[in-house]
Amino acid sequence: MNDTSVALQKVNLRRLHPYLDNILIVGIIIGKQRPRKFLDKKSSVEVYRGVWNFTLRDSPQDYINITYWGPSEVIFQANEKFRTGDVVEIINPKINVRILNDTSEQFRPMVTSPYNLTLNEKSSIVHHAGMSVDYLPLLKFPTKPIAGFLPLRDIHNSGASIKDFIDVLAVVRGLGQVRTITSKTNEIMLVRTVEVFDHTCPSLKIDIWDPDIINRSEKWTPRFTALFFTDLIVLWSNFQRQFIAKVSNRTIVTENPEGKEVQLLLDYAKDAPIETFEIVDQFLTTLPDPSTIRDIMSVKQIQDKINASLQEVRSGSKQFTALLFAFVSNLDLDGLSQTLMITCGKCKMPIKGSLCENSECSTVYENEVIDPEFKFDIKITLSDHTGTLTNCRFRGEVVEQALSCTARDFSNMSDDEKSMLKWKYLMERCAVHIAVIFVGNQYPVVSVVNIRLADPVEVGRSLPVY
Ligand SMILES: [Zn+2]
Repeated sequence: MNDTSVALQKVNLRRLHPYLDNILIVGIIIGKQRPRKFLDKKSSVEVYRGVWNFTLRDSPQDYINITYWGPSEVIFQANEKFRTGDVVEIINPKINVRILNDTSEQFRPMVTSPYNLTLNEKSSIVHHAGMSVDYLPLLKFPTKPIAGFLPLRDIHNSGASIKDFIDVLAVVRGLGQVRTITSKTNEIMLVRTVEVFDHTCPSLKIDIWDPDIINRSEKWTPRFTALFFTDLIVLWSNFQRQFIAKVSNRTIVTENPEGKEVQLLLDYAKDAPIETFEIVDQFLTTLPDPSTIRDIMSVKQIQDKINASLQEVRSGSKQFTALLFAFVSNLDLDGLSQTLMITCGKCKMPIKGSLCENSECSTVYENEVIDPEFKFDIKITLSDHTGTLTNCRFRGEVVEQALSCTARDFSNMSDDEKSMLKWKYLMERCAVHIAVIFVGNQYPVVSVVNIRLADPVEVGRSLPVY
């Protein structure tokens, strides 16, 4: 225990040296790892010991790794009590000179201090009693030079040759559910996949296995949170058929870090195409006029071409267009299916009720009233004598033209009126121009780019037999 009769000397990390005793260091936790427990081999009874690593910073230049050893309950309690962003006092640590290239160094975040600290029974860690606000800006300083990040496109293109840890600077695109997984050692682990994007690529999935980072991710907002991840591991996912990244025990995550690259990226992120439909919509604007699509295909021919493309690993230009003569076998305009997408008129984020819930949006923090935007967003099913294409996207102006009705007017219609519109196409033979668009290595999005009732003579002349 601490000998309170000896006055503690407050020391900055910059002034640390191995002969100091009875010291106190104040700093902010910028990252921490999951604690581990192990059987104490020195004890004759079954006793578990624990170890926990975290990283502390007290100036933009100075940060250090700290390892806390003790009875496993004490260590796990300390881990519960202190989080990234907490300002703490480290009392009576043991100061060790770091041995570079030591194996233990490979499993800890990169730091600037030539020392590391060990806490044991004689040491303690408490929340800082004084002013903490001075330390909070330190959370915005990256722990490695930001300029060393790898663009996401390079990870997808040359993932197989990446053997080392990589740094990533990207903006949040979306957050997956927190999942529970039982490890090989029967430990229950939490995992969450965060999807990020940058200028070069709309998606990289990063698996987070660290409860502290999962906890912090609750505050991340798509398009508005930039993240700098140090020391990620790149791996191939057989299941997703693409390269993904995962957090390592060297990883530090800096949220919206300082740096001009970050501001440029956030400016781009505000309205970059990141949702699958946005990428598809953007691609559709590059297509020639639908009337020039003359490549007539049956449903089966389209499906065969999609399956062949999915077998190729390289994502080159697999997109294609086709003209299809098919029945509209499902078009739910008056039932329970979604028909409209409603977004905030300001920040363009989807809204559920009538108000925007994006805390970064000026309509929220300035109580501004702006009309939401309406857009058709419908799934349609097309069938012919060779098969059925489900989940075809039928969106935006294509629908407005086909139904001769704007999305906003549609939103005010009664179910009967919607039903009348539906029967204009349902079960009718139509000439449908489609675009098949691959986003990443997933099953492609089939988009209707034009639809009209078919002329029977035209159908008889052009229908493919198989
Ligand atoms: Zn908004």
